[in-house]
Amino acid sequence: MPRPVLRFAPSPNGYLHMGHAYSALYTAQWAAAMHGRFLLRIEDTDPQRSKPEFTEAIFEDLRWLGLDWEEPVWRQSERFDIYAAHADRLKQRGLLYPCFCSRSEVAAAASGTDPDGAPLYAGTCRHLTPAQIEYRLAAGEEVQWRLRTEEALELTGLLTFSVAGPTPTDRSQIRYARPQIWGDVVIQRKGTPTSYHLSVVIDDDAQGVTHVTRGRDMEPSTDIHVLLQMLLGLGSPIYTFHKLILDGEGKKLSKSKGSPSLRSLRESGVTPEEVRQKLGF
Ligand code: GLU
Repeated sequence: MPRPVLRFAPSPNGYLHMGHAYSALYTAQWAAAMHGRFLLRIEDTDPQRSKPEFTEAIFEDLRWLGLDWEEPVWRQSERFDIYAAHADRLKQRGLLYPCFCSRSEVAAAASGTDPDGAPLYAGTCRHLTPAQIEYRLAAGEEVQWRLRTEEALELTGLLTFSVAGPTPTDRSQIRYARPQIWGDVVIQRKGTPTSYHLSVVIDDDAQGVTHVTRGRDMEPSTDIHVLLQMLLGLGSPIYTFHKLILDGEGKKLSKSKGSPSLRSLRESGVTPEEVRQKLGF
């Protein structure tokens, strides 16, 4: 049996909060329990929101919590060429198309919402002619590339993935993926050659990740990941979705809502032992 490989993969677009601490401690705990490897990966693909000081803070906060991980730590911003090469393969197969829509145009044309509650893309740019595309590119319009999800599914047929729960050591069960509920997802965002979905499946495969452990809120995105894995010939790990840490109002913690950061807790005198104890580790 190869050694299990687990990873914690935060995005450095803010300071870590108790939800991240739970996910990191959970993943490290199960890596240790399974005599596996624990990796840390920095998912800094968003050029606007990722900041080096947040990456440094991730290292510092996780060390403060008492965690240890293998070096070198992969940073996704150093792997853009690899993501672009995979996206090119999809383009050559006619599975991606350029989309010039702004956020407000996507929202105005939306036919519903995706599992994240965001406007579902209505396919506005799906039928642009090569001449129209060339004209808009020449005019310097910013482009993002979307997946032709229905066509992709015709190629792959029925998709399944393995979910182990409540912990990664439990026997896994097979689930069907339904990527169509996401519509034509963005595979390469404006201003970067990748997206969260593309980078995460490429790197989990490249790092030999055997078990993905992430919050329940990310469960629906597995449908897209499984489709991309199949299209790109990548491995599919076993998934476990852990509980979320909620605030006093029962809402998920988030950087954008200003949930208290680990460093602000530390500055107010909270100890790592107290954090661990509060989270049940
Ligand atoms: N980078 C993602 C985030 O911080 C999580 C990645 C994952 O677990 O796949 O939300």
